[in-house]
Amino acid sequence: MVAHAYATVPYYRDAMLAGGLRPDDFRTAADLAQLPIVEGAELAAAPDRFLSSAFAGRDTLMVDTTGTTGHYKRIHHDVDAVLIALAAGGRRRAAGEAVPGARRRGPAVAIVPPAGTNAAVRAFHRKHLLPFMADRLEQTFLSIDRPFAELADALNRLEPDSIVSFGRFVGYLYRRALESNLAIHAPRLIWYGGDAMPEADRRLIEERLGVPVFSTYQSCEFLRIAFQCERREGLHVHADQVAVRVVGGDGRDLPPGTPGDVVVSNLVNRATVLLNYRLGDRVALSDARCPCGRTLPVIGALDGRSEDLLVRADGELVHESIVLRRLYGVPGLSNVALVQQAPDRIDAKLVVAPGADASRTVAGVREALAELVGRFDGLELGIAVVDELPVGPGGKFRAVTCLVR
Ligand SMILES: [Zn+2]
Repeated sequence: MVAHAYATVPYYRDAMLAGGLRPDDFRTAADLAQLPIVEGAELAAAPDRFLSSAFAGRDTLMVDTTGTTGHYKRIHHDVDAVLIALAAGGRRRAAGEAVPGARRRGPAVAIVPPAGTNAAVRAFHRKHLLPFMADRLEQTFLSIDRPFAELADALNRLEPDSIVSFGRFVGYLYRRALESNLAIHAPRLIWYGGDAMPEADRRLIEERLGVPVFSTYQSCEFLRIAFQCERREGLHVHADQVAVRVVGGDGRDLPPGTPGDVVVSNLVNRATVLLNYRLGDRVALSDARCPCGRTLPVIGALDGRSEDLLVRADGELVHESIVLRRLYGVPGLSNVALVQQAPDRIDAKLVVAPGADASRTVAGVREALAELVGRFDGLELGIAVVDELPVGPGGKFRAVTCLVR
């Protein structure tokens, strides 16, 4: 991958020439630390510098994300990389099958955004796999933007064997059902990825419903990073697909057990090449051997993955992925941080793209927010156009923060 980057990816060719490095200087994953640490803002500012000239204009899976750094990014995955990620998905499924008391019932249900990464990946599979293989991977989709009562009804009707969704969202779904004594189907297991599930929600689901909750670690930049095995004592890294380091503020590797910034290299994607890339999450590696017997390296603690929700006028919650997708449709919007202070009060900081008409962007954001929270009258908006948004410790950035209880 380093040789490919050197030959065809402008960013890495320049970085290696500047550092006096040749592909032969890289023998093991640890040698990737010789490369500069790439920040999400660099990828956002110049995505073409990370795109291999061998894959420009070719058929790739294009996904976009604001991720935890809040910068809008586009990533292209080549066909092989998307199909190799299926093998990582197989590891995850094998762990799910090993859950004691397993009993197959209904389908696997994914509660995800209608036009998000999950949907794009499935469409790409259908295009590139033989139909019978694509059929085997098929999940039943429920859109994350459907009202709570409809989702609960659909789950009761489908009786899924497993549910895959965002942690915060599926936590909210089950908490709300249990708090209002509404009967809701308990699947055999729940998977979440892409964000964190509040600990109280996880306990509620596991203790009240007896449903084990599993976490996976993935991102638009790397598709699959790590997964929880049936022991759920950490997350196993897909070490054949990604190389993971954890660094401190000085960019040096931290010992196992010490949390720091996760820096990831994609070892399989030859389209948008990302080596030594700071993902924006804080994790700690573990040197403990997992009792499951798998020898893949283990991420011991994963914190600082947060997404949030907006509260609508009708009491429904809108997931961050829906919020950001709508907002980034507004012409000229480059970056945004929202705080919902009260059901009818939202403060927003906007970064407007150079050359764009800021007043038009602000008007577009006002319209989008009114639509998203379903309040066309009486919504107080405190909108400020700023040059740059503040980033929290470890590069963490929160695009949507909801202070409404
Ligand atoms: Zn394990």
